[in-house]
Amino acid sequence: MDAHNPHADAHKDAHALVAHAPPGLSWLARASIAAYLPSIAAGMAKTLEWMFRPAVTLRYPEQQYKPRKGYRGEHRLKKDEQGRPKCVACFMCATACPAECITIVAEPAPWPDRDKVPAKFEIDMLKCIYCGMCEEACPCDAIELTETFTQIATTRKEKIYDKERLLKN
Ligand code: SF4
Ligand code: SF4
Repeated sequence: MDAHNPHADAHKDAHALVAHAPPGLSWLARASIAAYLPSIAAGMAKTLEWMFRPAVTLRYPEQQYKPRKGYRGEHRLKKDEQGRPKCVACFMCATACPAECITIVAEPAPWPDRDKVPAKFEIDMLKCIYCGMCEEACPCDAIELTETFTQIATTRKEKIYDKERLLKN
């Protein structure tokens, strides 16, 4: 009688599986490999490329990160050439804001070239999602998102920026 050999059994089982496999399976496996191999090779090439580049770690705060153009950081209320806030308290930004974090209170303008100015203009920076909708909605180019992102605070209140703070940003 033949001695029981587990390796030989496994070999026989594998052969049986291949013999009884659906005819399309092996073609499908080959097609899948062919489809994925270029992506895997491209990923490995990118990994190798970055392994030999200089490190991107910065020694903060001595070395500061400079955000790319178009980065949406903290807001600034812009001034006109006479140093006046450009905002005319139209509420378009507050209406467009999906986070509902802009609070405006309007008052009559002291200048003849506009009807209203903001008596109060606040942004709750902890609610803001930095989407830029306020900047897009403003008809007067009075608000913009700057590249500033490093302002710290120790209380929630400090992150509610008022008009003066936003004009300084
Ligand atoms: S960036 Fe977006 S969420 Fe933030 S104040 Fe503007 S509209 Fe609102
Ligand atoms: S949309 Fe512009 S002008 Fe109107 S309230 Fe906002 S910042 Fe002021």
